[in-house]
Parts: sequence; structure tokens; C-alpha cells
Amino acid sequence: MAIEHTFSIIKPDATRRNLTGKINSVIEEAGLRIVAQKRVRLTREQAEGFYAVHKERSFFGELVDFMVSGPVVVQVLEGENAVAKYREVMGATNPANAEEGTIRKLFAESIEANSVHGSDSLENAAIEVAYFFAQTDIVG
Ligand code: ADP
Ligand code: MG
Repeated sequence: MAIEHTFSIIKPDATRRNLTGKINSVIEEAGLRIVAQKRVRLTREQAEGFYAVHKERSFFGELVDFMVSGPVVVQVLEGENAVAKYREVMGATNPANAEEGTIRKLFAESIEANSVHGSDSLENAAIEVAYFFAQTDIVG
């Protein structure tokens, strides 16, 4: 298995409830290493650009409103099979369908306010990491 980088966001519902440390514990206990991290307030333009693939979906406007509603923590995670591994650790998009022990099962409020984002492919991970981080920000 290859060592990969994936991109993560701790979303505004989670920062609002002061869950950054608890979510980071789940990430680290799963064997993923946080190799870059910063807390930022997304601009509307950044949120629209980041979620551009969803712009035709009915929930796009609400999703952008939600993502700019408070601070987020953007992260790069490193580990074996990190992209698929983090998707497992996150759990299903809708917390009602998420497995026990996953971040979304533990913490998500709803299908929208679901506490975390994680890249869905290695290709998208590289694009998403580059959206927020320079190579020199990533310290493995
Ligand atoms: P995931 O984050 O699991 O990869 P998607 O890429 O399908 O899920 O959707 C991106 C984000 O859009 C979700 O994490 C969630 O915040 C929001 N979202 C997805 N589906 C819905 C929905 N039906 N209603 C409201 N928000 C949604
Ligand atoms: Mg997605």
C-alpha cells in the first residue's frame, strides 16, 4: 500500500461546538497523521470554488451558506491508503447511515452539517490540498 495525502475540513458545525480536538483524536487513533493544519474563515468565493462540482445540485446555495457560517479547520492527512482510509473514518454523508465509531456517527448534526469533508479520490486530494496549502506548509 502506498503512503498518500488526503485533504480534510473540520466544518463550521464542529468548530462551533469546539470539537476540533475530539475529531483530531479520532483521526490520529485511526493511524492518520495531521501533517498540515490551519483554522480559516472561508470566503464565499472560496466555498463556491471548492464545491463547484456540486453547483447544479439543489443544496448548493445552502451548502455554501453553511461553509461560510463559521471558521473551518483545513488539514492534510498522511498515511497508508489515506484517501480511502479517511472516507471510512468519516462515515457516510448522512449520519443516519454512518457506521458506529465514525466521525459523522459520533458528531454530525445532519446530512448537511456533517462535521467533516474528506477527498473522494487521490486526484481530487491533490487538487484540494493545493487549494489551501503550499508544499512547504506540509511537514510529514
Ligand atoms: P461527502 O462529503 O460525503 O463526499 P458529497 O460530496 O455528496 O458528500 O456532498 C458534499 C457535502 O454537501 C456533504 O458533505 C454535505 O455537507 C452536503 N450535502 C450532501 N448531500 C446533501 C443533501 N441532500 N442536503 C444538504 N446537504 C447535502
Ligand atoms: Mg464529496
